[in-house]
Formats: sequence, structure tokens, C-alpha cells
Amino acid sequence: MTMTTPEAALDRVNTHSRPSDLRITDIRCAEVIGAPFRSCLIKIMTNQGIVGLGEVRDGASKSFALMLKCRLLGENPCDVDRLFRRIKQFGGHGRQGGGVSAVEIALWDIAGKAYGVPIYQMLGGKFRDRVRMYSDTDASVPSGTETGKRLKQRMDLGYTFLKMDLGLGQIMHVPGAANGPTGVLDLYRTGYEWRETKTLEERRLQNALYDVHNVRHPFTGLHFTEKGLDLLEQYMSEVRAVVGPEIPIAIDHLGHISLNDGIRLARRIEKYDPAWLEDVIPWQYTDQYERLAKSTTVPICTGEDIYLKEDFLPLLACGGVSVIHPDLLTSGGILETKKIGDAAYDHGVAMAIHMAESPVAAMAAAHVAVATENFLALEQHAVDVPWWDDICTGLPKPLVRDGHITVPDKPGLGIDDIDDDVIREHLQPGVKDIWESTDQWDGEWSWDRTWS
Ligand SMILES: [Mg+2]
Repeated sequence: MTMTTPEAALDRVNTHSRPSDLRITDIRCAEVIGAPFRSCLIKIMTNQGIVGLGEVRDGASKSFALMLKCRLLGENPCDVDRLFRRIKQFGGHGRQGGGVSAVEIALWDIAGKAYGVPIYQMLGGKFRDRVRMYSDTDASVPSGTETGKRLKQRMDLGYTFLKMDLGLGQIMHVPGAANGPTGVLDLYRTGYEWRETKTLEERRLQNALYDVHNVRHPFTGLHFTEKGLDLLEQYMSEVRAVVGPEIPIAIDHLGHISLNDGIRLARRIEKYDPAWLEDVIPWQYTDQYERLAKSTTVPICTGEDIYLKEDFLPLLACGGVSVIHPDLLTSGGILETKKIGDAAYDHGVAMAIHMAESPVAAMAAAHVAVATENFLALEQHAVDVPWWDDICTGLPKPLVRDGHITVPDKPGLGIDDIDDDVIREHLQPGVKDIWESTDQWDGEWSWDRTWS
């Protein structure tokens, strides 16, 4: 029998953290690209060496997180809800929720590590051990058969739930498939993506292109023609011919078309049993969602751009959605998404989760997914990114196995660290290094109260 020394006994005791004395000392960032889009990993540092990981949503600026730093320094990170309520006024819908949500997730990670429990346990425990992932699939070739083959490859990897695009993007280059005011479709065909601008004129043109893609659906004047609808129906039928009738396929990216066109397309593809039709129109149009849901038997879904539970409630109350689809990096983070899921449950609505970032975002979502009863499926958008699994250390590799994530019992998110060498190979354009000093944000000052 081996003698147990006092030192060996101490090894089993968590002596590195006294949670009551934990203090936030710093926030650092790493802006990465290609996992699968542009996102920003964050670290919240503490005075006891515990580091919390979070992530600012794909396509959002790190500034949304860093502007919160001065409001968090010196605080106990385990007071997750109190700090969330302090900073939540600095979040907004879409990417503007990215900073608050990233911080909230990192605070949970610290609290879990300090107390030695996984996040799902702090949310009330598990409804399931494994998280069903749905594979989103961008297809560059506008052909139902080609897309079907790509989806079939996902099925061969073990995915049990699929998503694809179906809308203007597939048909807008076909003459006579869509109509609209002269010139609008041409502008719409010019996609908007970030590019560096050197002159004021380049910046002005970039902003003008942004405006083109920022016109809400009812005001673009764009419509499917009957020919366009025929092509989209054929596309869907070709996909089903390849993947078979049994696997769920969610449909996204109809394009900026009207509610009426959304209804026309929905009715055309009802016979192919889509799992849901996503973001047909902007989520703000509650009345139109109600009309959409009453006009088709296809389940209606929205939510990836909604910040906080309060704006999910009108959609749930009016019966306009069968599935809600929050993104943890917009919704306000872990606890807010758990609350959103529970609110949906009360209305008989399922919760899928949108996610298009690194394993940090995936793990945050996975903890909510196992702890929420009406969870349906979590997005995986990085099936084709070979280094996605290498971003984090301490997770199972591959993280998604047979189309599922098994959530580990390790404290916090369950991630040991970020592999700096891996992400240094994928820095966003213009970014020189990772985890650099953010001291310039320490002294930010403003009188923040929103009432008098
Ligand atoms: Mg979407």
C-alpha cells in the first residue's frame, strides 16, 4: 500500500481558487478568420489565474466586448447575473449582442472553473448526454443534385439533421426567375463582404453597398416569378431524391423577398417536408409571422438576430413560430438562452440553436442544449474546416462525433485552453497578434444610466 503524503492529498483539493475573492483583472482578444467566418475569441483574466473563455459573434467587432472592460474590472466574475444586468444595455440585436454575450459566457466559464462544476450543472442539470448537431451546407453550385450530394456526405459523417439554402441565391442569375425594379436585382447580385478601404471614396462605395443589403424584405420590390418558383421546387425535389425522405432538412436564406413570396415558396415545398423555413422576413414583423405561419404547413423559424428574451415573447405568443433559433452570441449568452428555451417550451415551441463560430461558441451552446428540455438541434457550420477541432485543447477530438457533441463533465465550458499556434495561422486581415494589451479600454468613461 502506498502512503498518502500531505502533498499528494493537497493535489486533489482545489486550492487555487477562493471564489469569494476572485476579481476580474483584464480582457484580451484574438480575432480569427475561417472558423468558419470572422469571429473574436476573448479571455477574461482574474487575480487567481483562472481564465474564462468567450467568443464575440461571427461578423461582429471586438469593440462590442472591449467597451465593457471598464465596467467589469475589479468585479467578482462569479456574480454572472448581476454583471450581466449591468452590461446588458450595451448589447443589441444581431451582431451588436456579440460583446455582452461573449462576456457572459466567459463569466460562466470562470464560475464553473472556480467551483469545479460544468456549466450545464449550474443551469439545473441534464435532459440528455449528447447534443444533436445539424449541419449547415453552403453550396456554390446552384443545383439541387449537387447540393443533395454534399448533404449526403454530411449524412455519411453521421449527421442526422441538415440545413441548406433555398431562395434568390439559387436562381437570381437565371433570366426570368425573379423580378424587381430595374437595377435592384443587379445590385442585389453584388454580394456585400468586408474589405479594407483606403480612401474616403472607397469607404463611401462600401457603405452604399451595405445600404443595398440593408433594405428590409417588404421594401426591396423583389419577387420570385413562377419560373423561379418552378426552379426552386425542382431544386428541392432533386435534393430529396439524393438524401431520401426521412432526414430533416431545414431551409434558410430565401433572400430579401416579400412575405407573399415566402408563402408562395413555402406552399410549393410543403410536399418535401422541410424541418423549418428560417428568417423568411425580418423577425420584427410579428403580425406578418403570424400570417406566414397560418398560410403554410411548413414549420416557421426565426431568432438568430434577437437580443434578450423579451423580443422572443411576442413571436411565441402570436403563434408565428414552430421553432425558435437563438444564437447564444447574440441572445445575451448562456442563462438568457436557457430562459428563452424555457419560455418557448411553455408555448409548445421547440428550440434549435444557431452557431457559426469556434468550439468555444459550440461548447457554450452545447451546455444550454443539454440543460433545456425542448432543445431540437444545434448548428455546425464548420464541417469543412479541418483545423476547427484544433482551436481548443482539452476537448474530445473530433468534438462532433456521429453528428453529436457529448458534453464533458469538466468544470466550466470544459475547454482547457486555446491553441495559440493554431489561431496565429488564421488571424483576420490587418491583425498583428493575439491577446495583446487592451489597456486603452481601461479608462473608458460615460454616464450610462438610461433613465432619470
Ligand atoms: Mg440563418
